[in-house]
Amino acid sequence: MSTLAETRLDETAVHELRRSFKGELIRLGDAGYDHRRKVWNASIDRRPALIARCASVGDVVEAVRFARRTGLITAVRSGGHSLAGLSVCDDGIVIDLALMKEISVDPEARTVQAQGGVLLGELDRATQAFGLVVPAGIVTHTGLAGLTVGGGIGWTMRKFGLTIDQLLSADIVTADGEFVRASDAENPDLFWGIRGGGGNFGIVTSFKFQLNPLGPMVLAGPVAWAMERSPDVMRFYREWITEVPNEVNTIIIHRRAPAVDPWPKQLHGKHVVIVGFCYAGEVEEGERVLRPMRQFGSPLLDACAPMPYVAHQALFDPGLPWGWRYYYRGCDVAELTDEVIDTTVDHALRIRSPKTSFPIFHLGGAVARRGDQETAFSGRRAGHTFNCGGATETADGFDEEREWARGLWEALKPHHVGAYVNFLQDESRERVREVYGADKYNRLRSLKRIYDPDNFFRLNQNVPPD
Ligand SMILES: Cc1cc2nc3c(=O)[nH]c(=O)nc-3n(C[C@H](O)[C@H](O)[C@H](O)COP(=O)(O)OP(=O)(O)OC[C@H]3O[C@@H](n4cnc5c(N)ncnc54)[C@H](O)[C@@H]3O)c2cc1C
Repeated sequence: MSTLAETRLDETAVHELRRSFKGELIRLGDAGYDHRRKVWNASIDRRPALIARCASVGDVVEAVRFARRTGLITAVRSGGHSLAGLSVCDDGIVIDLALMKEISVDPEARTVQAQGGVLLGELDRATQAFGLVVPAGIVTHTGLAGLTVGGGIGWTMRKFGLTIDQLLSADIVTADGEFVRASDAENPDLFWGIRGGGGNFGIVTSFKFQLNPLGPMVLAGPVAWAMERSPDVMRFYREWITEVPNEVNTIIIHRRAPAVDPWPKQLHGKHVVIVGFCYAGEVEEGERVLRPMRQFGSPLLDACAPMPYVAHQALFDPGLPWGWRYYYRGCDVAELTDEVIDTTVDHALRIRSPKTSFPIFHLGGAVARRGDQETAFSGRRAGHTFNCGGATETADGFDEEREWARGLWEALKPHHVGAYVNFLQDESRERVREVYGADKYNRLRSLKRIYDPDNFFRLNQNVPPD
């Protein structure tokens, strides 16, 4: 079988690449091609000409040089979780880091070195063995690399900061196929850009993070109320969070209760509002601080309990598995005003799909402690970040669910104050500029002119050089 993807490849160049490449090169027709081209979001269905599964930094360098020589459009993939599907392309090359999984913890120095193919759950397991943590996202199968270069928000950020706030250095293969290190001391301009500027400047092959003490037991889990009560729950919540210490990390979720543990059978399918908690401190202190919120109204479910941090990190995994169809659009709001609450609940009550759930992360705390211009990340001053999303298990009903998610995002538009770059769809150049703001966008663009003047890395939330 021959396709456009197959005929576009320069056979001599592929032959040369094969001679030095240590990982796997997979082409259409090869065993495993269909498996390897899949990404987390099954609504994305693209057929690259070549998938270069790199086993070393040398492989990444070779793959970049090959793509430059042959002029192939290039996608960079680590965990494959891009909400917009930007880590896979038609007819081009996917430079895939999934085989690069080395993790090395130095418990004395409280640092960890992790390669670009590491997933969040793998990192947590390695660091929690020493009671240490890098704050990151809330689903274990998310890729560390894509999450970090966008910023990294999650269950311990208000205590410790964003994932990028822990970054000490990064090893990067640039658009020229050169290897460079970025840190405060080496290439500080690049170091600024990769902390929030996404995949615009190169492929990170390894990250070095500082570690923070946590757990291994934490007080964490969901408390849920009937969704009709959400206007009251959210109004109580918005007062409560003004009083709580930075150890308190919460995410509000509206959805229909899933048919999984710990949800009792009689709640399955019912519209609920959930406050997900994680107390990044002593369990006893957490019990005291969380009490008013969990005692508010009459929760239908209270599964907030002491548990290992790694168990808590996996709690949301069943609700966001590989292979369903997803659509998300992100936006930040300054605060949960009456209008924001009422708009949110009004839409949430109309959720049809039992797979749809959308998070509202509470920001602030250590996230807001850093200056807005200190890193390329935008949104440190926002109060909450929404990821308006719909999901279905198959194509059935997906279009309707996507429209519903768009509707929620549109309805919140008067309250938008920005967005988290990792929660953007494949949107316009204007939207990317708007999200970064003029100053940061211009600085990113200058950096792009230095490190990637041809816009080789353009399948991302792109900041073109011109
Ligand atoms: C189920 C789920 C849960 C999520 N939860 C959170 C959360 O709690 N907190 C949060 O902050 N985000 C979260 N996200 C968003 C997540 O941060 C982004 O989707 C991120 O891009 C995922 O990284 P990845 O490596 O898996 O992505 P991939 O799809 O592999 O890559 C996405 C993009 O990242 C860039 N990229 C990937 N690898 C590299 C690399 N090695 N070097 C440079 N650039 C690279 C490329 O531009 C690529 O297009 C979640 C996403 C999903 C699907």
